[in-house]
Amino acid sequence: MSAAASNGFEPVIGLEVHAQLLTRTKQFCSCPTSFGAEPNTNVCPVCLGLPGALPVLNAEAVSMAVRTALALHCTIRERSIFARKNYFYPDLPKGYQISQFDLPFSEHGWLEIPDPASPEGTRRVGITRVHLEEDAGKNLHGVVLAEGRSVVDLNRAGTPLIEIVGEPELRSAADAVAYLKQLRDILVALGVNDGNLEEGSFRCDVNISVRPRGSSVLGTRVEIKNVNSFRHVQRAIEFETARLAAVVEAGERFGQHTRQWNDTEGSTVFLREKEGSDDYRYFPDPDLPPLVLESAWVEARRRELPELPADRRARLCSALKLSPYDAEVLTGHPRIAEFFDGVLATRPEDPVWAKRAANFVMTEVLADTRTHGLQASFPATPAQISAILELVDAGTLSGKQAKELYARVRGTPDDPASVAAAAGMVQMSDTALLEELCRKILESNPKQVAAYRGGKSGTLGFFVGHVMKETKGSANPAIVNELLRKLLAT
Ligand SMILES: [Zn+2]
Repeated sequence: MSAAASNGFEPVIGLEVHAQLLTRTKQFCSCPTSFGAEPNTNVCPVCLGLPGALPVLNAEAVSMAVRTALALHCTIRERSIFARKNYFYPDLPKGYQISQFDLPFSEHGWLEIPDPASPEGTRRVGITRVHLEEDAGKNLHGVVLAEGRSVVDLNRAGTPLIEIVGEPELRSAADAVAYLKQLRDILVALGVNDGNLEEGSFRCDVNISVRPRGSSVLGTRVEIKNVNSFRHVQRAIEFETARLAAVVEAGERFGQHTRQWNDTEGSTVFLREKEGSDDYRYFPDPDLPPLVLESAWVEARRRELPELPADRRARLCSALKLSPYDAEVLTGHPRIAEFFDGVLATRPEDPVWAKRAANFVMTEVLADTRTHGLQASFPATPAQISAILELVDAGTLSGKQAKELYARVRGTPDDPASVAAAAGMVQMSDTALLEELCRKILESNPKQVAAYRGGKSGTLGFFVGHVMKETKGSANPAIVNELLRKLLAT
């Protein structure tokens, strides 16, 4: 399907995200949530749905969910209700999922996505609601443990989830990806979710419809289930926008339904007719009392919120004059943000230091940094990087020498200043010596000297390069530049 098919139509997109909370135990029982145990070993009468077993709400999950809702600027409902969502599926032994329906614990929030078209550079996207629910088990079809058969693993049944429902205010695949990234960064910064789309702990359903550009009427929407990477979200939306536009343009009728993204084929396929909420026969769970969140307790959770990625980016861009790109890279993961703050700590308000630190961390340190979930392993400590940059700042080392020193120090607990001293690494700042070298280089390149004097000022770089080569990168570039200008002017 060509992009031309979607000309004249715009997509209307809203995302539903299910995020697993990083609690130690399940939502309504004390079974561990740890991943990778033998199938059906992290289970008990409550999460197996045995008759007579009673659920007890996990306080840690409530705390994480409330912090998330507050970070998303939601209003917290003082008294919310758990409801039973009834459906049959083999991975759901109770025959219903405990969720929240008409009275969720929070609603009416927003988050900001980058928007180059707006004067502020960002745009708010509404969050309809955040509610608490529990995960189902997992059906495994014909894989490792189930040669030729289907089996059910209930270890995941009852794992705490939050569902974050976004308003249909996204207008492109790029918007949707930006929204998802912001949301993931917030959850990860809060430490409530590991942000892993591929492993399914952060899952995204895409609701999408199309309408003629400029129209305010909403078209019939379809839902694309469980799209499990940012790239898949991008591709699925681009494909579905074009497909829906062609269908609508051809005047074909269709009902609300659920589709699935097939990345190999690069297309979506029909999965099933969409159930309406009536089909689930929601009713309040008689085994669970209302969830009451007192305002003093909620305010205490608000005070626990860390600096969020958007605020961190704003601080780096406005106070420290870093570019939005640098700020994005340095705040994208909470451990990287902490590491960078550690390097900034020496001079927290100095933009020159911040720029030097940003360049060094991004080009050198991040090349060897590995992240997994909320964890990250760094090749050096923030204190070591600060010490290297201090040597540059003091004029002791050139930029090139700083990189060499980093290569010697990384992976060791050694003090960079001692390593530099022991290796005799010192920037060459001896003016007399450098002047002699500059003179020699000018004498052996008369053509370039004539060109410079004839107005080709760019030739200066040629001479600087030669001096650097002669000194193996150790010459102080500021002094070399000054000397060459002086010599060429006479
Ligand atoms: Zn259990």
